[in-house]
Parts: sequence; C-alpha cells; structure tokens
Amino acid sequence: MSNEKNVNEIFAEFRLDPRLQKAVVAAGYETATPIQSKAIPLGLERRDLIATAQTGTGKTAAFVLPILQDLLDNPSRGKTATLILTPTRELAEQINDNIRQLGRFTSIKSATVYGGVGMIPQERALRGGAEIIVACPGRFLDHMGRGNTRLSGIRTLVLDEADRMLDMGFLPSIKRILTELPRERQTMLFSATFAPELNKLAEGTLRNPARIDMDLHAPAKTVTHVLYTCHKDSKTELLLKLLAETDTNSVLIFTRTKHRANRLMAQIAGAGYGTTVLHSNKSQNQRQLALQNFRSGKCQILVATDIAARGLDIATISHVINYDIPDTADAYIHRIGRTGRAEADGDALTLVTYEDEATIAAIERAIGSRIERRRMELPGFRGSATVAAPRYSEPAGYSEPGRYSEQPARRYSEHTGRRRSGSSRSMRAPM
Ligand code: AMP
Repeated sequence: MSNEKNVNEIFAEFRLDPRLQKAVVAAGYETATPIQSKAIPLGLERRDLIATAQTGTGKTAAFVLPILQDLLDNPSRGKTATLILTPTRELAEQINDNIRQLGRFTSIKSATVYGGVGMIPQERALRGGAEIIVACPGRFLDHMGRGNTRLSGIRTLVLDEADRMLDMGFLPSIKRILTELPRERQTMLFSATFAPELNKLAEGTLRNPARIDMDLHAPAKTVTHVLYTCHKDSKTELLLKLLAETDTNSVLIFTRTKHRANRLMAQIAGAGYGTTVLHSNKSQNQRQLALQNFRSGKCQILVATDIAARGLDIATISHVINYDIPDTADAYIHRIGRTGRAEADGDALTLVTYEDEATIAAIERAIGSRIERRRMELPGFRGSATVAAPRYSEPAGYSEPGRYSEQPARRYSEHTGRRRSGSSRSMRAPM
C-alpha cells in the first residue's frame, strides 16, 4: 500500500462500493492502469465494450470491478448473473482468483467450469447459483446440454481473450451459448487482436459497443529485449550459460513443441535447477502442481508451450526466454507480456538462428524498434559456438546506426545496471 497516497484516494474516481474500494487497497493497487481508467467507467455505465488489451495490463480487474459493483447494486439472489468465457483453464482460475481477491469483502460467489476435472462439483456450483461463472466454452456447453445451467438471469457476459478462443476452435460453442443468453445484457469483449472473423462475431453480439484500443504493439516499457544468435544445435548450451550468468528471480522458457519442452526441462533439471514443465498433454493436477511450484519459488524455471502459458499471471517473472522464437510477432508480444508486469522490470531473451531472420524482422516492425543482438562464447561447441549474426534488414520506421554491432557477452545484471527488487533467491536453489 502506498504511504504517499491516502487510501481513500486510490481508485476514488470510480466511486466503487466501499467493500470493493477496500479490496482494491488490500490488493495493493495504487493507481488504475490505462485499460482500467478507460474500461471501468464504461463498465459501470453498463455499456457494451470491445477492448484490445493484453494480459498483464490489468484488464481482468477492468471487467471484474464493474461486475462486482453491478452484483452489489442488483443482488441476484442465488442465480447466475454473470458469465465470463475464457480460452484456458489457467485463465479461468486466474480470473476467479481476481474475483475472489476483489470480492473478498462481499458475499458474492463465483465458480470455474472447465474440462479435465469432474463434472459434479461444477454442476453443484451451477445449480447452487454462484453469481459469477468463469468458464471455458466447451465444458460450459456440456453442462448446458445436461440442463445444469440457469441462464435466464444472466445480465453480463464477458468474452475474454476472444481471439484465442477463436484460434482454439471455440466459435461454434460460443455461438451456441449466445443463443441461450438473454438479449437484454451487457457484453464486454476483450481481445489482443481483431481478425475479420472476430469482428463478425462482435457485430452480431454487442450493441453499440464503446471501443477501447490499448495498442497491441506496445509491450511494457519496463521489458528489455535481447536476441542471442547461435547455431540451432547449441541452443541448450547457450541457454545453460545464460542461466548461469544471469541474475534472475524466476524464468519462463518457451519452446515450440511439447516434446521439446519435456526434453529441455530434463536438460535444465539435469544441470541442477529447480524446473517444472507446463503443456497441454499434462493433466489438470500436473498443471496446477507445476504452477504452484513455480509461483512458490520451489521451481525457479518453468518450461512451457504457448497454449499452456497463455495469459499466465505470475507477478514475479523476471525473465522470459524464447528457446524457440514464436511464429508470429503477436505471439512474441503475448509471450513477453508474462514479464515486466505492473511496472516491474523484466527481460525478454530470445535465442535465434539464421533461419529466424524473417520472424525477427516482423517482430521488430511490430514493436517499432530494433532489438539488441548479443553473442556468448561457447567454448564447448566445436571450438567456436557463435555463428555470424543473420543479415537483417532495418525494420520499417526505425533506424539507429551503431546499435547493429553485436556486443560481447557480459554478466547481464552488470550490463543492465539494474538490481531486481523483491526476491533474493539464488538461481541454483535445489528442488
Ligand atoms: P491482468 O492483465 O488482468 O492479467 O493483470 C495482471 C496483474 O496486474 C494481476 O496480478 C493483477 O492483480 C495486477 N493488477 C491489476 N490492476 C492493477 C493495478 N491497478 N495496480 C497494480 N497491479 C494491478
């Protein structure tokens, strides 16, 4: 909590119920994030809205606070009044955590509904009238088919990470769910990108929506980006060297496939780091355990694939490392959105080979600046591990001669001159 700011001033502009106001202060929020400043007043006015905002911007509280306020103003008396649809189980749990956190001084009940776990407790929550349901579309539809849902009292619908729900093939399920919802309702749609298909869905679903554009291509300014060029066969060696020489708190590493994630996790664990892995072949229990171990610091490294790590909300990730570069600039921005949260410092390190040239150019165009290249000497790799940096063409709209030269490897914390606050855990903590 801020010492400088009177607690009564925090979020005061929104005139929230005192119970919500108290929870916001208890959550440690001091000022509204940009998406919150724009979306909360509209949400409170019960306007439909479409917002382009990524995870990490505080978008969850931007819709949760108006929803909680509405439920305090209009008690739903044991009927489901709000449905939040989201693509993954992890996101559903995170949203629910946020609801519990901000609703802690109220008696509003919420529940999650997603696949991979038993139907019965979910059925009880649905029938028992949790006022807020946070659900993945597929499982929610299953419950609808079994007559477990009570949809007539729904006043508010949120489509969260709508682009990803479409990517994951949920469009037919969403359309089916929409047909059963009361027409008289508020709908808030959040998405990082807007493909034509999504615009079509939005047109048919929202009424005169307000649009909020938070500029996808502006990753947190507190994130430092660096590319490490290497040969594809020396990636693991380079990664281990980076881990050994970098001052980190907790590290999220992305690989292209589940198989590569498993293999890399074994290699990193073999080098003595507390490591865990998250991908969609893991059971719900395994995923929850992996997240728990990573959150608690028992494992300082989490190796993950894109889908599994979508929207992960872990406040303390100091480094995102792209062991494999993502396919698109959007995916890059999503990945690095996992670090540098809520104004904390973060670093995004990407291992690249000459084959990644086109993708790097697209990423640089998207973020509007050139990313610094560095090299590391790897004596163990056939005498000379570093390869010549790929030839890059200057990204459009950006030129800063001189930053093209590669820098020799340095101890990262010395280079950035930053000290991380919060944790003093050392990287080599045993499991
Ligand atoms: P989200 O983008 O909703 O995933 O939020 C990212 C993280 O920021 C979550 O851990 C939130 O609890 C946190 N957060 C949300 N709003 C604020 C705020 N106004 N001040 C500080 N942290 C916030």
